[in-house]
Amino acid sequence: MRFTPRAEEVKRVVGILESGDYDTPEQMAKALLKDMADLMAMRDWVALSHRFSKGQLGLNWGPFASVIDATSTGEKLGGLGGEFSVVTLNSTGRLLGNVSSRKGAKDFCQHPDCGHAGWAHLMDGSARGRCGLEVCPCDKFRK
Ligand SMILES: [Zn+2]
Ligand SMILES: [Zn+2]
Repeated sequence: MRFTPRAEEVKRVVGILESGDYDTPEQMAKALLKDMADLMAMRDWVALSHRFSKGQLGLNWGPFASVIDATSTGEKLGGLGGEFSVVTLNSTGRLLGNVSSRKGAKDFCQHPDCGHAGWAHLMDGSARGRCGLEVCPCDKFRK
């Protein structure tokens, strides 16, 4: 898989590595892996789908980090006697964040009591103003 770490992901991992909160390497490794899974759930992924004929259900492989990654893998395999297509797998973390909140994640409000998506905030001129949820005390979208 061609995988490019993002700045916010690197920052989270460095935060764990430098925290000094873990007594053993195993505890730190566990925390890193759990955090990685959480971070990866915030990404969209791509699946490579193969079918032998039209009307047949596809057999899916993935995840791939990008459409290019999935497509080039499909090209390497040739048609395998059928055809490949590429399907986007939308982020489950973003989906859940959109219906509840997701503090600390990119594109979600960093107000300590908010954490709702940017689009949930009302426009104030050209900027995002207060959160549109009535129960939320957020006065301004914080990046
Ligand atoms: Zn809010
Ligand atoms: Zn907010």
